[in-house]
Amino acid sequence: MTERNGPISRLIDEITREHATFLNFFGKYDERGATAIADFVAGNPQEMPIPGFAETLIKWTKPTSKDHFAYKQSIPEARRAVQASLAKLRGLKVDLDDIFMTGGAFQALSVTLRALAETGDEVIYLSPPWFFYRGMIRMSGATPVRVPVDAAQGWDIPVDKVDAAITARTRAIIVNSPCNPTGRMYPRENLDRLGDVLRKASKRVGHPIFLISDEAYSRIMFDGVHYESPVDSYAYSIVVYTYGKQLLTPGERVGYVALPPSIPIAEREALRNAYAMTQVLMGWLWPNTILQYAVAELEGMSIDIAHLQQKRDRVVKGMRDAGYRLNVPDGTFYVLVDSPWADADAFIEHLASQRVLVLPGATFEMPKHFRLSITASDAMIDAALPVFAAAIKEPARV
Ligand code: PMP
Repeated sequence: MTERNGPISRLIDEITREHATFLNFFGKYDERGATAIADFVAGNPQEMPIPGFAETLIKWTKPTSKDHFAYKQSIPEARRAVQASLAKLRGLKVDLDDIFMTGGAFQALSVTLRALAETGDEVIYLSPPWFFYRGMIRMSGATPVRVPVDAAQGWDIPVDKVDAAITARTRAIIVNSPCNPTGRMYPRENLDRLGDVLRKASKRVGHPIFLISDEAYSRIMFDGVHYESPVDSYAYSIVVYTYGKQLLTPGERVGYVALPPSIPIAEREALRNAYAMTQVLMGWLWPNTILQYAVAELEGMSIDIAHLQQKRDRVVKGMRDAGYRLNVPDGTFYVLVDSPWADADAFIEHLASQRVLVLPGATFEMPKHFRLSITASDAMIDAALPVFAAAIKEPARV
């Protein structure tokens, strides 16, 4: 660790520095977002929320008993709704005690990492990752181990490289399918091979290596493709979910962790206690009671996936016609685009000067790319496509 500098803990200081690109970008974002003609930066709503969402929340602000707003951990009503959904959509029979309600996937991930890992441990993540995996792994005390996926292999999990990265210190691997930012849903055959490697490696190192399955986008799938969860390929998997994507309401924090029955009962019991303690001590990390009561109704609601797919298709076609190279996502909100200029940041700045905002790939370990979120409205896409078409004709600047 570096020399301690000022009042900040060294760990937080280092993590903050690691996130400098991200923080700098978002530091400028608020001002630019307000005047943008098209905002493709984050998976944020650019239109009014889906019908029924606000009404459901309003309904549950009215107390149903004296305990309505009491201290609550995971309430039975929410757990039952999650249990029914996993059974119906996935054929997964999860015990009620193995469902932990959290403030979105953020809390689900941070609690899981804190419960499983400690200083000296290693946690593998696949690169390009979601921005906060490294920081969250470090907050648990563990060391992040980066395994890059390969565009030439269709962005699938490079199973041999994962195998080679496993050591006696490896406690977990985070798998995000469909993946933010590549949009790739890992096919069953790829997940089965990963499961084989993790089973053998767990034997070799003498403890189970957990697969933390970040399923934030499991209901944001295109072309009618059935979602294939990593959980069905490997017993020691933990489901992480958020309602923030399916409802496109990321500011209302609700999601969960689910432990599948494939994890042996002795370990599940240990995990139940560990989650309860970790959720308390990390700061009472449960969603507010209003959101927990609302889950049973929110479960059945979703943004219009057919409309999202139309936007994906328009963006893909418009960008390709203009000459861009990009990745067609199987799911998620994101289209990953190769920068036409060697200096992607200069290109992204050029777009920003035309009031079209995109996310720099440097924020997710891909400095030659940028990412578009198709949560942008149709009007934004209309306004942006001519800007993209003109920008690619400009001579490259450095
Ligand atoms: N995982 C991934 C891959 C994500 O993209 C996000 C949100 N961008 C999260 C987790 C966190 O989701 P939430 O904010 O709904 O907790």
